Order: sequence, then structure tokens, then C-alpha cells
Amino acid sequence: ANHVHNVRGSRRVGIMGGTFNPIHHGHLVAASEVAHLFHLDEVVFVPTGRPWQKDMSKVASAEHRYLMTVIATAENPQFRVSRSEIDREGPTYTIDTLREMRRDHGPDVRLFFITGADALGAILSWRNVDELFDLAHFVGCNRPGHRLTDTGLPDGKVSLVEVPALAISSSECRERVRKGEPIWYLVPDGIVRYINKTGLYLDDGLTGGGY
Ligand code: ATP
Ligand code: MG
Repeated sequence: ANHVHNVRGSRRVGIMGGTFNPIHHGHLVAASEVAHLFHLDEVVFVPTGRPWQKDMSKVASAEHRYLMTVIATAENPQFRVSRSEIDREGPTYTIDTLREMRRDHGPDVRLFFITGADALGAILSWRNVDELFDLAHFVGCNRPGHRLTDTGLPDGKVSLVEVPALAISSSECRERVRKGEPIWYLVPDGIVRYINKTGLYLDDGLTGGGY
């Protein structure tokens, strides 16, 4: 395996999970900023398979979301995309992904799970939250409309960081496409072109073939 170590010792890998329906500049800025702040060697984007909390009839097929994530990250040598969750059968749980990353990378790698403030709040209510925090250090990023507070956070397991705030969400992008409004500059140019080419998000029911 390709275990490159940076000057600080063990390899440091960020994990950015998301539906990425579609990926947008809020995701990319958060990943880039956390990579910088935490001296990460790489960030792995992990598009979800069937997120257990989302209504899958409204989510574009895993393959479309995976390809858009590849297109958006292709030019950054520190960014990589994993098929791990989209290739897994059944509903997706972050803990399975973290266990798998830990197994694949070995005990020495340091894992950093990157989330927005909204997602971090939800994580604290998960089952197995103690094991999650043992598997990775969690990094919560501010996000417009969501407040970051350290009340109730376990000591030393979670860092809250300020990233340049972008008031962009995938839901807003989908809504704009449906209404014929532009999404230029909210998402990478290649994503605008991919969405136009495939007809994704044109109406509520049509989301690229579902899962
Ligand atoms: P949707 O509107 O469909 O829920 P989303 O924009 O929230 O989509 P997700 O794929 O759900 O995107 O988010 C993946 C991760 O990225 C989550 O941890 C989320 O908090 C974070 N994130 C999403 N948008 C931003 C943003 N603008 N700034 C910071 N973090 C973000
Ligand atoms: Mg969301």
C-alpha cells in the first residue's frame, strides 16, 4: 500500500461524506480548508449509497452523484473519491465506512471526519457514537444558517473550525435547476455542464433513475 508519511509522522486522511446531490462549492471549500488547517495528506470524498435519513426517491442515482464528485475533485491532487458506500448493499451507515477505512489504512493512519454544522448536530444523536469518535477525529465546519456550539461535545474528540462561509446547499441547486435559474459559480463548471447534459433535477420526479 501507498503509506506516505508527512513531516508530522503518521499519514493524515480526511473523510468527507455526503449525498453530493449535487456536489457544490460549499463542500469543496470545507474540504480544502480542513485539509489546510489539519495538515491532511488527502481528503477522500465518500458519496452515500442509500442514506438512511433521506427519501431516496428524491436523490439522483448513486452513479450520477459519484461521477459528479469525481468531476468536481479531479483537478485536486489531494482529493480522491471512494465508491465504498455506493457499492455497499443496503442502507449506508458512516460507522461502517469508518471501520472499513480504518481496516484498509491500518492502525497508524489518523482519520478526520469532516462535517458541516448541521450534520454534526445529527451525528451526536447516533447510536455507537463512542465508537465513531474512537475511529476518527471529527471536524465540524460552520455553515450559514447553522450554529456551531461546543456544548455537549465530548472533550478532544471534535474540533469546531471556521471555514469561509458559503450559503450554498444541494437542495437550493436542485431547486434552481428545476426553476430554470442559473447554478453557475455555485457548483464547478463541469457540474453545470453535467447536469445540463443529463437533464438531472429538471422536475421533482425525475432524478436520474433513482437509486
Ligand atoms: P441537501 O441540501 O440535499 O441536504 P447539502 O448541501 O446539505 O445537501 P450534503 O451532501 O447533505 O449537502 O452535505 C454533505 C456534508 O457537507 C455535510 O456534512 C454538510 O453539513 C456539509 N456541507 C454542505 N454544504 C455545506 C456548506 N455550504 N458549507 C459547509 N459545509 C457544508
Ligand atoms: Mg444536507
